[in-house]
Amino acid sequence: MQIRKVAVLGAGQMGSGIAQVAAQAGIEVALVDAVPGAVERGLGNIAKLLERAVQKSKLDAVTRDATLARVRKAAFGDLADCDFVVEAITENEPTKLDAFKKLDEVLPPHAILASNTSSIPITRLAAATRRPAQVIGMHFMNPVPLMALVEVIRGIQTSDATYDATLALATRLGKTTVTSKDMPGFIVNRLLIPMLNEACFAMAEGLGSAKDIDTAMKLGCNHPMGPLELADFVGLDTCLFIAEVLHKGLGEDKYRPAPLLRQYVDAGWYGKKSGRGFYTY
Ligand code: NAD
Repeated sequence: MQIRKVAVLGAGQMGSGIAQVAAQAGIEVALVDAVPGAVERGLGNIAKLLERAVQKSKLDAVTRDATLARVRKAAFGDLADCDFVVEAITENEPTKLDAFKKLDEVLPPHAILASNTSSIPITRLAAATRRPAQVIGMHFMNPVPLMALVEVIRGIQTSDATYDATLALATRLGKTTVTSKDMPGFIVNRLLIPMLNEACFAMAEGLGSAKDIDTAMKLGCNHPMGPLELADFVGLDTCLFIAEVLHKGLGEDKYRPAPLLRQYVDAGWYGKKSGRGFYTY
C-alpha cells in the first residue's frame, strides 16, 4: 500500500512530533485538533525544533521550509484523501473510542487507523470501527523526533496487510520497530514502570536517598537517567496511571502502585512539569 498522505489527530506533545517526523520523511501531513489554537501551537513547536536544527547546521533553510510546508491544519471533514491516520489525542478511553468512530466515517475505505495509546487495548479501539482489520497500535516514544523506537501493536483483528504497511511507514519515518502483543503496557512500559515503581518503594523504605538510588542505577547499570529522575521526567501522574493499568490488567500484586507514588500525585507533585517530584525544578 502506498502512503501518500498521513493525518495526525491531536497536535500535542506526541502528535506534533509525529507530524514533524512524517513531514521530514517527505509525507504530506494533515494535523487535526479539537481545541482552538492547538494546531497552531503544535506547528510552532515543529518550527522551533526545525529552526534549532538549522542553527546547529544539521538542516538547511530550504529543507526546513519544505518540511513545514508539508504540514497543514485540517479538520475531520478534510481527511477523505488520507491513507493513514495516527491518533495521538488525550489518553482517555471514551474520547478515543468516539474519535475512532468519527475517523471511520470520514476516512476512505482503504485507510489505516493507528493509535499512539500507551494503555488502551487496540482490540477495543478496533471494535469501535467498521474496519477492525485496519486498526493497529503505533506507540512512539517521547520526544518523537529524537527517540528511535516505535512499538507496533497488533489487535486481535489486525490484518497482515495493515501490519506490513505500518512497519513500512515506521521505517520510512526513520524508526526501528518492535512488535508487541496487545497486552497492558506493551513492552516498554511493562518493564519500565515496575522499575520506576520499585524505586518509589525503595525510597519509601529508606534504602537510599533519591540521589543514591539514581546514582546507583546510572553508574551501576549504565542507565542514562536514574529511575526517580526518569519518573519525574515522565510525570508521576502518568507513572501512577500506567502502574494502575498494569495492576488491573495483569491482576498481580507485584504491579501494585507504591503508596509513596500515589501520595506524591495526591499532593500535586507530578515531577518536572509541576516543579516538584522527587526533585525540585
Ligand atoms: P497532549 O495532552 O500533549 O496532547 C493531546 C492533544 O489531543 C491535545 O492537543 C488535545 O487538544 C487533543 N485532543 C483531545 N481530544 C481530542 C479530540 N477528540 N479530537 C482531536 N484532538 C483532541 O498529550 P500527549 O502527551 O501528546 O499524548 C497523546 C497520546 O500519546 C496519549 O494517548 C498518550 O498516552 C500517548 N503517549 C504519550 C507519551 C508521552 O510521553 N507524553 C508517550 C507515548 C505515548
